[in-house]
Formats: sequence, C-alpha cells, structure tokens
Amino acid sequence: MTVMAGETWTYQKYKFHGLSLSGIRTAISMPELSLSFDVAQGFPYLLNLKHFFITHGHLDHAAGIPYIISQKAMTSQEGAKFYMPKSMVEPMEQIMKIWGQIEGHEYRHNFVGIEADDEIFLNPQTYVKVFPTTHRVDSFGYTVFEIHKKLKAEFQGLSEKEIVDLRRQGKEVNEAVHTPVVSFTGDTQIEFLDSRPWVRKSKILLMESTYIDERKSIESARQWGHTHLDEIIPRLKDIESEKIVFIHLSSRYSDTEIQRIIKSRIPEEHRDRIEVFPGR
Ligand SMILES: [Zn+2]
Repeated sequence: MTVMAGETWTYQKYKFHGLSLSGIRTAISMPELSLSFDVAQGFPYLLNLKHFFITHGHLDHAAGIPYIISQKAMTSQEGAKFYMPKSMVEPMEQIMKIWGQIEGHEYRHNFVGIEADDEIFLNPQTYVKVFPTTHRVDSFGYTVFEIHKKLKAEFQGLSEKEIVDLRRQGKEVNEAVHTPVVSFTGDTQIEFLDSRPWVRKSKILLMESTYIDERKSIESARQWGHTHLDEIIPRLKDIESEKIVFIHLSSRYSDTEIQRIIKSRIPEEHRDRIEVFPGR
C-alpha cells in the first residue's frame, strides 16, 4: 500500500480516513458523511467525496483542490462543494481559470467562502459549524454537530401514557439537543481552544500538535502559527473531549518516538484519551 492510500482511525460510530504530517500533507476524511477536512495534494481516497472543508490556504492542506475538481469533471461527478476562508475564494477562482487556460478546458466548481459561526447542513440531523483559529494566514476550524431529539426535562419521569396524552393535547414534548461530536483544527496556535465554547466540549477533538519535545521551543512553534505539546499538557484538564487526536506532527519525530514521548509526557489521568492519528 502506498502512503497516499491513507490510514483509518475509528471511535464508536465515527470513522476517519486520511493523512496528516506537518508541512507535507493534511487531509482527513469522514467517509460516512462524504466530507474531508483539508485535501492535501488530492489523494485517491478523497475523489468521491462531496464536501471539502478547507482550514487555510497553505499548499500542504489545499493544493489538491484543482486536481480533485479535474478528476470529478473526468468522472462526471457534479455538486461537490469546497468551503474555505472568504479571502481564498477569489485567488482560487483565478487558479482554476488559469489552469483552464493551460488545459483549454473550462472547469465548473463550487467555492463557498466561510466565516466564523457559519453553519453548513449536511443532512437534517448533521451540520458543520465554523470556529476561528490562529495561524499565519486566514484560518478556521470545523465542528460536526448532531441534532438529537430528547424529552424535555419537565416531562422526564412521566409514564409513556402521560406523554402520549400530552402529545394528543398538542404539547411539544421533545426538544432538539445540538451535540458537537467532531472538531478539526487545521493549523493553529493554542488560542483556538478558547475561541468558541463548543470546541473543548466536542466528543472527538482532532487538534494540531506539531512539536512535542524540546527540539522546538514554544516560542518558535507560535512564531510559525503552531501548537507545542508543552502548551497542550496544562490545558488537558479544560478539554472535555472523550478522545483528543493529535494530528500534524512534525516529520522530525518517528512513529515510535511519538508513542514514547506521549507515553512519558502525558499525565496518567489523561493518557487514555490521547491518540495520535495513524496516517502520516
Ligand atoms: Zn499552515
């Protein structure tokens, strides 16, 4: 299997497939929702998806946009949408136009400029909400929310018959609960954690953790718009996520080195929650 095939990581019913290696490639898909966070260079596992959420315009995250569009044109797939920071839309339109000139072909595509707090519905029960991140260029993270119906608190403890009666009287017995299930940061300084309250409450948080030991300082991580494990450790107590998945680790660390460092540095009470995304 080639590197480009990606790796799968699952938790409960949530399945992720992709790759993330700092400065080289980041594209992590959720095949069941037909979406990907970032597109790296446009790997084969992305080509049939419908929703592409681009965190920022750096090439290791976004270079695959034209290629995916051209592959979709070749296989007559219509309707894919690329969500991206507003400031990226016009330059990307230019790139598509110029590439169209090179190929003598006019591409059809759908670029949607997003802002913080935008909500994009994937289906009536699932939507993606945008949160701000802090990087060297305009950047955003994305959260998948699920909407579930729940019996209103005031009616809990009633019998089934009593609830049926209330319904007959035309009372609304249920309320909609919006649950943040997956957040994906893209590249960012640690400030994203406090940008929106739901991010730290996401069931699964995929967050960048580019540097994990003293070979890079916090200062230099921040200078490049990234997050250092030294900043994450004191904040673990604030993160309510059941799983915290580190992505975008620097290529200076081997897989075995990462496991060793994480094991020795993460306080024991948090260790079960921490995962490293397997595809790099
Ligand atoms: Zn970047």
